[in-house]
Amino acid sequence: MSLRPTTEGSRRGFLGLALAASAGFAALPRAAWALQAAGRPAAASKKLFVWKSLHAKAWAAIGQGGNTLVVTDAGKTLLIDTKMPVFGAILRREAESTVGKLTMVLNTHHHADHTGGNHAFTKDLPLLSHKKAEPRIAGQIDRYIAGIKSAVGDMTKAQPAERELVADDFKKLHDRMADLHVKDFAPTQTFEDGHELSVGGLKLKLHHFGAGHTDNDAVVHAPSLNLIHTGDLLFHKTYPYIDRAGGATTVGWRASLRKIIELCDDKTIIVPGHGEVCSKAALSEQIEYFDRMCEFVAKQIKDGKSREDVANMNPEPYDTYNNAWIRPITLRGIYEELSEKK
Ligand SMILES: [Zn+2]
Repeated sequence: MSLRPTTEGSRRGFLGLALAASAGFAALPRAAWALQAAGRPAAASKKLFVWKSLHAKAWAAIGQGGNTLVVTDAGKTLLIDTKMPVFGAILRREAESTVGKLTMVLNTHHHADHTGGNHAFTKDLPLLSHKKAEPRIAGQIDRYIAGIKSAVGDMTKAQPAERELVADDFKKLHDRMADLHVKDFAPTQTFEDGHELSVGGLKLKLHHFGAGHTDNDAVVHAPSLNLIHTGDLLFHKTYPYIDRAGGATTVGWRASLRKIIELCDDKTIIVPGHGEVCSKAALSEQIEYFDRMCEFVAKQIKDGKSREDVANMNPEPYDTYNNAWIRPITLRGIYEELSEKK
């Protein structure tokens, strides 16, 4: 996803194709590539990610996996979500050059487009996740490795300026792939339902509202900044990835979204898991999406349509959402969930 409007977000760069294919989870690429193609020279910025200032104490890096948020206060800095495995070292370097030394890392859930870069942080920093993320992260080391291989393999398809930004880091990681183990990705601390965290003088609240997008979703709320990172409970203007094996339920998902809305006022800054930084209205739109799609799929089931019939449909008014490759996955997920209830 890019910081540009939706037309950019629907395109996928060389990395995106490989990452999405190998990952099997929501890999939403094309951030920096799109911006460079739009006329921002890579050499001028020397940064892969666009670091968007949300507040004097908060920055977001959108896309190339899940959205990253950094919050800082009084010499302490927390980074939330580490993107795809190949981006770990780049993300850390750019975050630290933007904000200063990091002191802590947090994953909003186990999906590898949010935890893949963990290996660049775990050697010297505490890493937090929900307790149920821990075994899931431990069980997907092959997925991390596959993501590295495919991204490196696809570098030949990149434009020279794109390649220049990532080549050294990709190669270094590829060379040490055999040395990567579960401990390099695993959280060092876990929490369960509700937890408070201090970043300098900032108090953050970590909420887990039950299974929604996965069974280990964490919502990070910084009340004094009026800022929330929703993790993948919000896919803004993008098809929501339903991972039933990971604990997804659209009923729980909507319940979690309603809880997040309770934390918001009209000025709350929302960092979604994927898509652009937005506001409270996007949370209601996500609930409405599920309401309407559940209604739509229930009708198709009643009319005798098969799961694959439904997966191939493109119902309005959401037919222009970004990342169309996720749409069949979303519709299959809803079909299975509704079929189970019978
Ligand atoms: Zn996810």
